[in-house]
Amino acid sequence: MIARTEMKSFFAATVLFFLLLATPLLAEQGSQGHSSPSGDKRVLVISIDGMRPDVLLRANVPNIRELTLHGSFTFWAESTKMAITLPTHVSMLTGVSPAKHHITWNDNRQVKSGELTLPTLFDLAKKAGYSTSMVIGKEKLAILAKPGMVDWLKTPGKTREDALAIAEGAAEVIREHQPQVMFVHIPDPDAIGHSSGWGSPEQVAAADRADRGVGILMAVLMKAGLRDKTLVIVTADHGGSGRSHGAKVPFSHFIPWIAVGPGVRENYDLTLEPELAVHVEDVFATALNFLGIAIPANSDGKPVLAIFAKPEKVKASGKKE
Ligand SMILES: [Zn+2]
Repeated sequence: MIARTEMKSFFAATVLFFLLLATPLLAEQGSQGHSSPSGDKRVLVISIDGMRPDVLLRANVPNIRELTLHGSFTFWAESTKMAITLPTHVSMLTGVSPAKHHITWNDNRQVKSGELTLPTLFDLAKKAGYSTSMVIGKEKLAILAKPGMVDWLKTPGKTREDALAIAEGAAEVIREHQPQVMFVHIPDPDAIGHSSGWGSPEQVAAADRADRGVGILMAVLMKAGLRDKTLVIVTADHGGSGRSHGAKVPFSHFIPWIAVGPGVRENYDLTLEPELAVHVEDVFATALNFLGIAIPANSDGKPVLAIFAKPEKVKASGKKE
């Protein structure tokens, strides 16, 4: 009798143990559109302004190369039709084209409150309980930081050669606050493109510097124990040619798009997906999807699910395909 009671309580304890084990998994699965952060998921978006893919590939970029080896990437992702900085970054972080978000200017003009009415990645993340940060190399991008939606906003750069100052400023924020959703903007290749030309040796050197900035950020994530929890997307707003970029300027429209993080396929060239075209707006949707936040219905961007390893198909015979 005693033995049976013990057996029963052992059984009950075992069931309880497995229920407890399963709870986080269930919570995780049910997190789509839920209003609280699921697990400890984090997103870091790094935008290298004006970074035309072929210029990046000619530069000395060991850190970004490392990200491609451990992540999924395409060097044929597309900017907005406008291919200029502010409208395209707004698209990157609201998931819609400039035609929908109406931020079509590219200067530092003061934004009246309410002018950017669509929710940003930060708005949605903040409302879902995540902490947020922006570290930017151009003040106009602060239009994306609506009141109360970005916990730590910094503009640390002071010269056109800002990559290292920006990265150090962002590293400080990561060390001190560990924001869960972060955007870092490195302005150098655009600034140098306008002065020396897209594809000039000076711009290639600016890409080298941007890569050192990326290296600083990856190292600080690693040191803080966050690398394995963070979806990192390295991309750009536009390319360019001559000393300009825009809708009618050749070579303005393609951008790099590199994702690395938990569950992301390693060393995977997304152009292997015949149907897939990656757009700058997809940063927004991919980040939200990763964080378990519902993507707004009007989003032009879609989550790039091809970055995640597909489960191996198992045939009826039980053999892996
Ligand atoms: Zn520019």
